[in-house]
Amino acid sequence: MPKAKIKKRILTGDRPTGPLHLGHYVGSLENRVKLQDKYECFFIISDYAYITDRLVETKKLNNNVKSLVLDYLSVGIDPKKSTIYVQSKIPQVAELALLFSMMVTLSRLKRNPTIKEEIKDRGISKVSYGFMGWPIIQAADILCVRADLVPVGEDQVPHIEQTREIARDFNRMFGRIFPIPEVLTGKVARLPGLDGRKMSKSLGNAINLSDSPKQIKEKINRAITDPKRIHSFDKGHPEICNIFQYYKAFNREELSEIKEKCQKGKIGCVACKEKMTKAINEFLEPIRERRNFYEKKKDIVKEILNSGNKKTEKETAKTLTLVKEKMHLDYKSLL
Ligand code: SF4
Repeated sequence: MPKAKIKKRILTGDRPTGPLHLGHYVGSLENRVKLQDKYECFFIISDYAYITDRLVETKKLNNNVKSLVLDYLSVGIDPKKSTIYVQSKIPQVAELALLFSMMVTLSRLKRNPTIKEEIKDRGISKVSYGFMGWPIIQAADILCVRADLVPVGEDQVPHIEQTREIARDFNRMFGRIFPIPEVLTGKVARLPGLDGRKMSKSLGNAINLSDSPKQIKEKINRAITDPKRIHSFDKGHPEICNIFQYYKAFNREELSEIKEKCQKGKIGCVACKEKMTKAINEFLEPIRERRNFYEKKKDIVKEILNSGNKKTEKETAKTLTLVKEKMHLDYKSLL
């Protein structure tokens, strides 16, 4: 068995589909920064996951991966505490996924509700073998580093259940290697986009962590507020206003004052948005500073990724050696 780990291990990460936004910050990044102190965290940049539905957009990968690493570092993911790595740089993930694929039936994959929903949501007309088998690759990601905990949103829980099944089946069939990973749940805070829908890169309603003060001002200016409010003296309904939701996340000091003034028609939306622009820019200032620092230090970013890849591969190589021993695929007496 591998040497006992002192801290519990977490695996989490993102597909490198473009810049991260405030919704990501509120929903997960803020929490990840805190998790680093309590757990041994591995942050995966899932480039294989990216190509499940963006096979014709691989040219963007280099820039997207770079921007994701900068987003991580700028919000406070600390490479001294945590490991950031690129999925495709870890060959054991693909190998383990191949072995796991023998253990999962096609009908089990077809029953996965997340896969069904994603096919519908992303409008995928031709479902590839790779997309269908995505929960197996995810299981390989998680079990390769022998993660104890996986923080995911509700939509990803069925994938993790698939991982748990694979871990249990493997342990039962070949001998215990894998911890059965738990889902780390918590209240996931949601931030609406500028138009009130879920904040999303693809919907064009997001405020990115890397946006300049000018971009933020322009974006906030066009955000939808209480649609019934025409004049600044009209009584408003902050609970249905997107800007008010941003006050909850980024300017709690003025929250009750704004609520009262809005309800009594004592503040106009223009002035209210100006305050929010200022608050978001203040919040982003240290994030921008860290980003500037790392953008200038290209070698440091390279070093962070290279050492993250190396550390992860060391761990995953140990796992794969054990897996092959247990499955009698090591051919020790022959080779
Ligand atoms: S005053 Fe502020 S909270 Fe009220 S509707 Fe306008 S932007 Fe929203």
